[in-house]
Amino acid sequence: MFDFQDLYQEVVMDHNRSPRNFGEMHDATHSSEGFNPFCGDQLTLYLKIESNLISDVSFTGTGCAISKASASMMTDTIKGQTITIANSIFEEFRKMLTQTNNNLELNLELLGDLEILSGISQFPARIKCGILAWHTLQSAIEGQDSTVTTE
Ligand code: ZN
Repeated sequence: MFDFQDLYQEVVMDHNRSPRNFGEMHDATHSSEGFNPFCGDQLTLYLKIESNLISDVSFTGTGCAISKASASMMTDTIKGQTITIANSIFEEFRKMLTQTNNNLELNLELLGDLEILSGISQFPARIKCGILAWHTLQSAIEGQDSTVTTE
């Protein structure tokens, strides 16, 4: 029997235990810090952007399992994508987490494995944890120096 909730927990725990693309990047072209005061999640995101392409991405930080798993999966997803596509994925991801309309049509092709994180939408208090990495990505791409918070 396929149980979506089990899969969600398994994937979150796996990424939390061994986050992908975890570590500082010394030749990053863009970086930004994100902070979610509601939970204490903190992360620094590093990007290498070459002519509109995100050729490399990594992150460091501390936080709850959801924030770390979401950051880890985001880095896997956006690596090698253009900024335009990364922005489109973020839009779908935000829709998936924040809209409660059951008939909502999502672009599952864009979301890929991120669909598993739709489980977060059942815990409204954790949505900020799940979306922190993406806000930090936006800020890094836009080249803002200040720390972003989920507020
Ligand atoms: Zn959190």
